[in-house]
Amino acid sequence: MEGASDPTLMDKVVNLAKVRGFVFPSAEIYGGFRSTYDYGPLGVLMLRNVKNAWWRTMVQLRDDVVGLDAAILSPPSIWAASGHLATFSDPMVDCRNCKERWRADQIGATCPNCGSADLTEPREFNLMFKTHAGPVDDEAHVAYLRPETAQGMFTNFSNVLRTTRKRPPFGIAQIGKSFRNEITPQNFIFRTREFEQMEMEFFVPPADAAGWFDYWLDLRFRWHLDLGIPASHLRKRLHESEELSHYSVQTADIEFLYPWGWGELEGVANRTDFDLKAHATASGEPLDFFDQAANERYTPFVIEPALGATRSMMAFLLAAYDEDQVGGEARTVLRLDWRLAPYAVAVLPLSKKDELEPTAREVLSVLQPHFSCDYDTTQSIGRRYRRQDEVGTPWCVTVDFDSLEDRAVTVRDRDTTEQVRVPIDALLGELQRRTTTG
Ligand code: ATP
Repeated sequence: MEGASDPTLMDKVVNLAKVRGFVFPSAEIYGGFRSTYDYGPLGVLMLRNVKNAWWRTMVQLRDDVVGLDAAILSPPSIWAASGHLATFSDPMVDCRNCKERWRADQIGATCPNCGSADLTEPREFNLMFKTHAGPVDDEAHVAYLRPETAQGMFTNFSNVLRTTRKRPPFGIAQIGKSFRNEITPQNFIFRTREFEQMEMEFFVPPADAAGWFDYWLDLRFRWHLDLGIPASHLRKRLHESEELSHYSVQTADIEFLYPWGWGELEGVANRTDFDLKAHATASGEPLDFFDQAANERYTPFVIEPALGATRSMMAFLLAAYDEDQVGGEARTVLRLDWRLAPYAVAVLPLSKKDELEPTAREVLSVLQPHFSCDYDTTQSIGRRYRRQDEVGTPWCVTVDFDSLEDRAVTVRDRDTTEQVRVPIDALLGELQRRTTTG
């Protein structure tokens, strides 16, 4: 990868994302809307791949984690009990000179915009989006957009226990949108007001919490490495006690080396029994577990790995971006893992001539049920290879005039640019061999 040393990396990735249809600024025809983004035809494929890779590791390959999809709109009672109404805030300062607002903990003694030192005292700004549910615009109808997906897992704890017959240690996983009225959304899709999270709440006997914290921190760290983040760009950082959220006794960030420096990619927290106990007290419904073997009732502790799907996609894009030379020509290439690339395969008839189309379409229909495929007939084959390199497609399959005679196609590898001839009948097997994972 280009690395943090390239000062233009961020601009290149943002530009590529826009030009190639990964991420568009939202409401652009109206001048854009405050750091919101829309995911285009390639972005929606890649984001889905990021979420599928997470779900596969966290749910599909395990027998101790189940899924959930809880509501985004939620009553104030949830956020009063969870502590978010009282404490989910950032310290905000105003610059009296240029009127910009900043997060006090992200700036020094002067305004980053105009340099003035004439700043107000910090005051707490609650990050939750407030709205009204129903046709009445009064306090009794206040609702919040969730600022994290986690609370749905806590409020459904008993429902899940009862319906799945799971017992600690077990987890509930969820992928979905969260909303935070960030004071300064910034750095493209790193920090936005509307974003997607992938969170898992793992319920354990209190005495085992520290061990499970280490387990999940390690497993989550390896997930990013396995999908292509280089070890040089990933580190763990334990929170100091004054940094901890109101519910946590131990938190570690998995940090990524962004072009502007190290920053949070994922958080792993020991949330203790704070949330279950708070909801049990506030709702009057017991949220605990009766361990029949030990004849003991207890409230589980919770270990939570929490990752932004959109932030994760950005880290993968930054890590994958590369420029090299092929045959004396400069090319841009996204070295994305095949599991994350928008298209795993591109089927390219060598020429637009009609004779090639039936065979090319036949190849496409063999691959489409198994892989996300692009089909591109425009421009020269060299240009089409470059276009696929630029969006990270690991394999191009070219159908040429010989294919009509020998029933074989050329498979080109994105990273090595090596080309091999493969019989059409063996093509699916060959690509499945290249994509086999544990
Ligand atoms: P930060 O310190 O960056 O504001 P946080 O510590 O508040 O983040 P968490 O509450 O731990 O973040 O959220 C879990 C994960 O959700 C983060 O690690 C990040 O990947 C993602 N996330 C949080 N806020 C945003 C946001 N505004 N935009 C995109 N992703 C976010």
